Amino acid sequence: MRIGIDLGGTKIEAIALDAGGREQFRHRVPTPRGDYDGTVEAVASLVAAAEGVVGRSTVGVGMPGVVSPATGLVKNANSTWLNGRPLSVDLAARLERPVRLANDANCFALSEATDGAAAGLPVVFGVILGTGVGGGLVVNGRVVTGANAIAGEWGHNPMPWPEPGEWPGLPCYCGRTGCIETFLSGPGLARDHEARIGRALDAAGVVTAAAGGDADARATLARYEARLARALASVINVFDPDAIVLGGGVSNTARLYERVPRLWAEYVFSDAIVTRLVRAVHGDSSGVRGAAWLWE
Ligand SMILES: [Zn+2]
Repeated sequence: MRIGIDLGGTKIEAIALDAGGREQFRHRVPTPRGDYDGTVEAVASLVAAAEGVVGRSTVGVGMPGVVSPATGLVKNANSTWLNGRPLSVDLAARLERPVRLANDANCFALSEATDGAAAGLPVVFGVILGTGVGGGLVVNGRVVTGANAIAGEWGHNPMPWPEPGEWPGLPCYCGRTGCIETFLSGPGLARDHEARIGRALDAAGVVTAAAGGDADARATLARYEARLARALASVINVFDPDAIVLGGGVSNTARLYERVPRLWAEYVFSDAIVTRLVRAVHGDSSGVRGAAWLWE
């Protein structure tokens, strides 16, 4: 059996998958925010509970951040109490076995490449369009972590082929301006709508209004689609994936899957484009499932 842990900022979720990917256990607890030792203990308790049902298992952990190959310490986690801590060493000691940790976007991509929307395809790019914008790359069923553990993190590249008004763009928490994330996250979509239309709606509200025929909301979504197409064209030009899988709140927008591939043709350096744009099959469960699949 494989246990997957999704170590989020507000909840920690555990599942156990059998060899066929069927879920045999699932439980979640609130994250002890700000408490590093408490977080390690919460993970250990969930593993113990899962193993009470399914027996001794492998353990994979997905989290918003990565273990730095340079230091062995967590970096880039928005659960900031994990940063600078030797989480993989501490979990391995507490659980008395090796534990694999990966970025949550990488886990998402692995889940969808293993038995999700891109099952069995050789090169898969997974994108989370949520509070932030994350990306992960899976090649031949394995996560590509990269030399700096940042493979796929294109959300903090600038928006390519910028149009008037998009450059230098808005400040991003990473310290730069005009990052892809500032346009394509859910809050980015909402901010663009408010800036143009002067009406405050969250991303889901814009999508609902557009589906109801609201012309302003449709125009906001059209701008979003054009930007997503340009941002993904730059990914296609680098990784040339068989499929790009979208997850996160904004991925529930049905019209993206038909419109964005038509728009990206103008920017992809190829005569014909067979890359598919698909919606995540496992939805919110992809992160925790991918954590389990870190042990193949
Ligand atoms: Zn940024």
